[in-house]
Amino acid sequence: MSNPSPPPSSSRVLVPLALVALAAIAAVLRGCNTPPPAASPTVAKEPLVYEFPIFDTFAVLKAWVPPEQADPASKEVMAVLRDLHHRINIFDPASEISQLNRTAAQEPFPCSDELWALLDECRRAWRETDGAFDVSVGPLMRLWGLHRKRETLPTDAEVATTLELVGLAKVEFDDAKHTVRFPKDGMYLDFGGIAKGYALQLVVDLLRQHGISPALVDLGGNIAGLGTPPGRDAFIIGVRNPFATDEILGTIQVHNRAVATSGNYERQIVIQGRTIQHIVDPRTGQPVANFAGVTIITPRPVNSDIYSTAVFVAGEPLAQKLTAQDPDTGVVLVREGQNGPDLQTFGRVTVEP
Ligand code: ADP
Ligand code: MG
Repeated sequence: MSNPSPPPSSSRVLVPLALVALAAIAAVLRGCNTPPPAASPTVAKEPLVYEFPIFDTFAVLKAWVPPEQADPASKEVMAVLRDLHHRINIFDPASEISQLNRTAAQEPFPCSDELWALLDECRRAWRETDGAFDVSVGPLMRLWGLHRKRETLPTDAEVATTLELVGLAKVEFDDAKHTVRFPKDGMYLDFGGIAKGYALQLVVDLLRQHGISPALVDLGGNIAGLGTPPGRDAFIIGVRNPFATDEILGTIQVHNRAVATSGNYERQIVIQGRTIQHIVDPRTGQPVANFAGVTIITPRPVNSDIYSTAVFVAGEPLAQKLTAQDPDTGVVLVREGQNGPDLQTFGRVTVEP
């Protein structure tokens, strides 16, 4: 289903529509219509556009290279995304992760190399964020009605009991055999906070292998820009306004980095009058509402997704730590201010009005 773009006029329509409808960040592709400078004959004037379904959303690839180069790469991208989807989709009972979640409390589950590579990222993310990012939050997501509907709020006792099933430190990883074992029945892993960023990482790695640049990939609001679009210094990406999601707060420049946002506007629910956010603190067991939105810009696509969820939980101290350890990382925190959205930035990012 990889569709090379129709003529440029309609391809330009396709991408902004997909972004507006699906993205946590709207990409403002102002560079696309600008003619390339005369001195760059290898950069195509208009991008080829490919769209792939994944995780109930779409991956959109724009590549400013000739079709002989982009078409084969796009086929590989599609195959990689399809394979990942079948492995890590927790809502598909036949996926590898669903099998793991069903059986790892009975016996160690032997992981494929592909799943193990993702679990490695999850374990590293947990260490790096001091436990704020924890893929073992599955039971909490369920408890708070975020995976299946419930009519009443959980009691404090239920939260406490559920917390006994949460914490990556409890999960037994065998690094020699690549197996996972849960010490307690009812534990389960949920890749919702990393899946799109990890998929984006795989796509970007593939594009780099194929030498495809400039290119822009948008995977449900997780966006990576490789190289520079014709006639510009960087891709210009809009940061969506969490209080008016058809508007943007400003734009940021993306050059060989990736952007992701965790926001409270996408998937929140209300139980007995209380609004429940879809990000939970694995230490307290409570849904967190610290920010209206957290945007991360960083070189590795998987990290932009991880960090946006983690900083939503752990706030400024983690934003400070992550930007101090990597000078190419930037964080934008958005809160509800008295006169509209209140922005705070850390590290290498500028939000331009
Ligand atoms: P979105 O998927 O809407 O872009 P995020 O990337 O912030 O948003 O991911 C939110 C998802 O992450 C939740 O739906 C849940 O599956 C998972 N999640 C929630 N809390 C945590 C956490 N503390 N650590 C890791 N994953 C989490
Ligand atoms: Mg995330």
